[in-house]
Amino acid sequence: MALRVGVIGGGQLARMMIAPAVELGLELRVLAEADGMSAALAATAVGDYRDLDVVRDFAQGVDVITFDHEHVPQDVLRALVADGIAVHPGPDALQFAQDKLVMRAKLADLGVPQPDWAAVRTRAELQEFLDAHHGAGVVKTPRGGYDGKGVRVVRAAAEADDWLDALVDGDALLVEELVPFVRELAQQVARRVSGEIVAYPVVETVQRDGVCAEVIAPAPAASDRLVRVAEDIGRSIAEGLQVTGMLAVELFETDDDRILVNELAMRPHNSGHWSQDGAVTGQFEQHLRAVADLPLGTTTPRAAWSVMVNILGGPAEGTMGERFGAAMAEHPSAKIHTYGKDPRPGRKVGHVNVSGDDLDDAVYVARAAAVHFD
Ligand code: ADP
Repeated sequence: MALRVGVIGGGQLARMMIAPAVELGLELRVLAEADGMSAALAATAVGDYRDLDVVRDFAQGVDVITFDHEHVPQDVLRALVADGIAVHPGPDALQFAQDKLVMRAKLADLGVPQPDWAAVRTRAELQEFLDAHHGAGVVKTPRGGYDGKGVRVVRAAAEADDWLDALVDGDALLVEELVPFVRELAQQVARRVSGEIVAYPVVETVQRDGVCAEVIAPAPAASDRLVRVAEDIGRSIAEGLQVTGMLAVELFETDDDRILVNELAMRPHNSGHWSQDGAVTGQFEQHLRAVADLPLGTTTPRAAWSVMVNILGGPAEGTMGERFGAAMAEHPSAKIHTYGKDPRPGRKVGHVNVSGDDLDDAVYVARAAAVHFD
């Protein structure tokens, strides 16, 4: 019988595991939050991932559990592990992707370079940090943030009063130095259950309004040192945190050549979508191999450059499907991926990958194809 992989979460990341699962001969099942989600193409159960009975029921029917997101509560994950279910990444690793304060403390232990940071509970504590960091900082809610929600640049402690007031006993906010970065990068690695690790080339990510807009792989003008340091950081975090599956490490590059860790994702990640078409082994296939404890695949790029452009919002009128014909006809070298989601302002509804020898050409074609879906 085929190994059965259960994915908790029915979004586009689960959806994009479906095709590689078929190729690998794995059976993919999805626990989706609602009917008709992106991953509904696979055998899908619908239920609340916070409800232990629901998750336990789903887990009974598979051999390994993995995720489309990092929001499954620790007590649910730990109950599954206690039941003897294989959960990858496991709760011990996932806690560092679920809580940015827990992550900062652990990365400090591991000696990984990161922005100056502190846990703050009061206006006075926050102001003290700002005063020690040129009067500015980035305040973050440790849990539940995504796409820049839960992140705020402040120049006075009072600007975070609403978040400080909402803290309940024992909770704290994370504050970080405002890093004067020259660009953002992402390093992906995969770690197999039995320990093998492979690394992808470090990529450049471009964010707009806190959301990833474009990715260039590999990162242009990356020195040998940058490539090596980013890979070392990725490997040591995967090892140090015992991550299983894909790990994405979001990084800042500063003008004095420092590489600092911003945050972690323990699943396939937007910064790795390029690899579906631009690397020998795409991140979705790699994630499945890693969590199913199969040998990992080569990460080498298939072309000098790959560019990924997100389709955000989608067409103001009509469906993505209606735009497909024109985009494919005009840009036959573009690989267009759609998520089966209804268009909505700012929503990630698809992306375009283009690979080639010339970076400017690849950027042009990827953007021109994506524009068809605006
Ligand atoms: P999310 O979890 O919502 O993705 P992040 O922590 O990645 O939030 O922050 C979102 C964006 O805010 C980052 O991509 C970066 O552009 C900016 N940012 C976050 N932390 C800092 C920082 N310490 N200094 C400067 N910019 C930051």
